[in-house]
Amino acid sequence: MSTTHAIERADDERVNWVSSIPMFLIHGLCLLAVFTGVTWKALALCFVLYFGRMWFITAGYHRYFSHRSYKTSRAFQFVLAFGGGSAAQKGALWWASHHRDHHRFSDTDRDVHSPLKGFWWSHIGWILCDKYKGWDPDSIKDFNKFPELRFITKHDWIPPWTVAIASYLIAGWPGLIVGFFWSTVLLWHGTFTVNSLAHVMGRRRYATTDTSRNSALIALWTGGEGWHNNHHYYQAAARNGFFWWEYDPTYYVLKVLSWFRIVRDLKVPPARVLKGARVREGSFDVGMFKAHWGKASAALLAHTRWADRDRAEDGSTVDAAAELAAVRAALDAADGDADPVPSDAALLAVDAAEAESPTVRENLTDQMHASRAALEESVRNAMRAAEDLAQLSRRQRSLSRAD
Ligand SMILES: [Zn+2]
Ligand SMILES: [Zn+2]
Repeated sequence: MSTTHAIERADDERVNWVSSIPMFLIHGLCLLAVFTGVTWKALALCFVLYFGRMWFITAGYHRYFSHRSYKTSRAFQFVLAFGGGSAAQKGALWWASHHRDHHRFSDTDRDVHSPLKGFWWSHIGWILCDKYKGWDPDSIKDFNKFPELRFITKHDWIPPWTVAIASYLIAGWPGLIVGFFWSTVLLWHGTFTVNSLAHVMGRRRYATTDTSRNSALIALWTGGEGWHNNHHYYQAAARNGFFWWEYDPTYYVLKVLSWFRIVRDLKVPPARVLKGARVREGSFDVGMFKAHWGKASAALLAHTRWADRDRAEDGSTVDAAAELAAVRAALDAADGDADPVPSDAALLAVDAAEAESPTVRENLTDQMHASRAALEESVRNAMRAAEDLAQLSRRQRSLSRAD
């Protein structure tokens, strides 16, 4: 039996196994180390290429191109695009436009890589799917206007090939296999864990409308991107570790570059944000609530779908609305009782309503259908109200702190 996900993928969200062959081949190339051998020089290169290129992804692709959390010159902007490109995670415009969409639609059906659509989908599946091969220039208008960025995104093979050839020249065949390919594959999965694991592993400090979490472990191998709940709460910051103990080397390097005026105007979270809507202090955790409800609702729907299929073969139809009215009438009768808990008599009344239907089983299915739909609607309204409330309380907090 397949796992139920809180959000079902669309029909066009499927892995294209044929066009994904190169990616699997590159994983396989790592095994050639058996023949090339593993030298200390190649291992050192692997280490440098992992953390060096990770920095370009986090500081460049993520904090600069996706979130504009600091400013820099046009020349260094290109250096960031080229450095990020060398990690073989496609071009800067592609990466940043999809990442902006992730924040815009976090954990909804329009989120490209929500783990609510399944762990492997959020980790790697979405990249191997034809639907997300291109990028939306409209969501990255501010950078799409630079011809050099469009060029390097279109010809995204240039930076990784440059680094691959340099690796061979520096450390021979072990340099290419261990230095370049090992670090590239590790870098892929390291980066991907921010999309997959950072939404399921770790703690939630801030009540956000998504499932993001803070994990010191993920921060270790992603240069500080593990503080993902902080980041979803306040995306504009150039630092994701909000407190001194939250290890964030991406930010430390940016800070040093700012002393040399290579980058400037690093945005940091204001004090009021640091004290924002804490889950610990009772802020309504609408993100987790949505995720739990989404999964339960999908499971109920999957269950009734089986029953519907059986019935469709019988040729009978589902009149959920009429059934709901019957159930509500029965439950209203129960509410009329002085006892707040439905009495046996009220439950018997529900059973009597069931007995009127063609079969008890069909009636039950209809009731599930109808109640689930009714609950879905109420939950959606409740969540809308909760999101409004969260936003209002955030504004209220910031106003009261400004006094
Ligand atoms: Zn982000
Ligand atoms: Zn996220």
